[in-house]
Amino acid sequence: MIVEEKGWDFLVDNMDLQTQCFEIEVNLLLESRAFTCLSDDQKEAVKRILLEAKDKLDHRAKIEQDIKSNGTQGKKNHDAKVDSEVVYEFGGPIGAVLIMLFSHAIMYYLWLSAIKHNGALFIPVYSDLQHIVHDCTPTADILGFYVAFVIFQAFLGASLPGFRVSGLPIPSENNQMLSYNCNGIVSWWITLLTLFALEYYDAFHLSTLADNYGKLMTVMILFGDLVSIVIYVSGLVLRRTHRMSGNHIYDFFMGSWLNPRIGSFDLKLWAEVRVSWFTLFILTLSCVMKQYDEGGLANVHPGLWVLLLAHWLYTNACVKGEECIVTTWDIFYEKWGWMLIFWNFAGVPIVYTWNSFYILNTNPTLSTECGILLALVLLVTYYIWDTSNSQKNRFRMQLRGTYQQRPWYVFPQLPWGTLEKPVAIKTRHGNRLLVSGWYGLSKTRKIHYLMDILFALEWGLAAGVGNLLPYFYLIFFSSFIMHRGVRDNERCAKKYGKDWDRYCRIVPYILIPGIW
Ligand code: NDP
Repeated sequence: MIVEEKGWDFLVDNMDLQTQCFEIEVNLLLESRAFTCLSDDQKEAVKRILLEAKDKLDHRAKIEQDIKSNGTQGKKNHDAKVDSEVVYEFGGPIGAVLIMLFSHAIMYYLWLSAIKHNGALFIPVYSDLQHIVHDCTPTADILGFYVAFVIFQAFLGASLPGFRVSGLPIPSENNQMLSYNCNGIVSWWITLLTLFALEYYDAFHLSTLADNYGKLMTVMILFGDLVSIVIYVSGLVLRRTHRMSGNHIYDFFMGSWLNPRIGSFDLKLWAEVRVSWFTLFILTLSCVMKQYDEGGLANVHPGLWVLLLAHWLYTNACVKGEECIVTTWDIFYEKWGWMLIFWNFAGVPIVYTWNSFYILNTNPTLSTECGILLALVLLVTYYIWDTSNSQKNRFRMQLRGTYQQRPWYVFPQLPWGTLEKPVAIKTRHGNRLLVSGWYGLSKTRKIHYLMDILFALEWGLAAGVGNLLPYFYLIFFSSFIMHRGVRDNERCAKKYGKDWDRYCRIVPYILIPGIW
């Protein structure tokens, strides 16, 4: 307590000093009588905290100075500065290598667990590798299906008419706003109808995918890696790089190119919505179809029905609100590097549908009543997730004058999805931060992340409580999304300065209302 009080007073009093002089002052402070009770390690820790805090305050003062002295141009310069700042995240190059290796290994591990170990944790042995080589080496059929799927989606994405929206101003490209053709909803229904027709006319049975899950997984992994390499190299060759650290491993992981496009066809938005979420739904549907083919509707596990509903809702939400995805962090900030590409092509479809595959292979215990209850809870979670996302995104669209009500076939349009009288605080940056709707009610800044975490829990519960691995996605996703929340918070604190503090006082909780 003493440390905190003295420390913060001290910080404010000495903020204007040069860092070197400040460090001398800190050393003197720590040697003073007030701090004799602290051990050397504790003193070192206090010193580190004070230096880091001073660094942040200096940075914030600089931003405010920039904005004051340069007006709108200052704001633009400042946005560009925040946007182009290179900070090693995810543990830098070493962290990137470890994440890339782990991401490959975990998929085969999960697959082996469902196939050979009833979904339990196990220690891999050499024969597991042989099993992978035998059952996960792609065949021409599976490769052909996937290539046809990707080409078909690219064709739909590039050719169908859609709802045109402008993205956020891109600080690194002179605040240019890219135009996006959001035709996901039409592609989605055409894809579903095509799959239905293929099934109906015996041209391709969806259950083939569940039968060849391992082979398909390898194809998706190879695609993820290959596309990442092509995009990384083309970013370098075409000189479209942005926010580069200079370390090839880290830059490959984070990406070289912010908005790779072929003409006006945006590859990042396309892959994010069409490749990852469509394949997610198709994989779960293939597990349902497999059980249906073997014994009719009654043979389908209640957990698989829950997952089918969950994955339909999620995929449908991504296409019905595609214009809202345009302003999300992945699109406006994150480059299209291995991290996004691999997870679009392989990570999301495989890791997120593993529970469906697990249920298909192990038939875990889950009563129909529990399945129905879970589906109802899922619908409530979905309602909050959908409306909290759309309240904020539509509010931002209204401010930019791009909001339009969507036609009837873009459904479900939920009540309270658009705020009639949104309340927001005006920032000196110029943007407004919404403080009403779910933000005001829950007083929580990332209530939509919490709902996403609850989805992960519900997807786990659909696979019963007999094993830990159905909760792998919950653990993985929670850490990923909380880390993203921290990154976003840091970015917004830099961008909005004192206004962000003001916003955080009005909407004080980060993730869990009333607690954190
Ligand atoms: P957010 O939707 O929270 O967007 C963050 C940005 O919104 C901030 O950087 C800021 O941008 C702006 N903002 C923050 N608070 C406010 C406010 N009160 N009013 C107005 N603008 C605000 O994050 P994401 O884009 O990461 O996530 C969108 C959804 O996608 C979430 O539901 C998330 O769970 C989901 N998601 C799911 C994934 C999955 O794999 N299942 C992966 C990633 C996301 P600015 O600087 O422009 O003001």
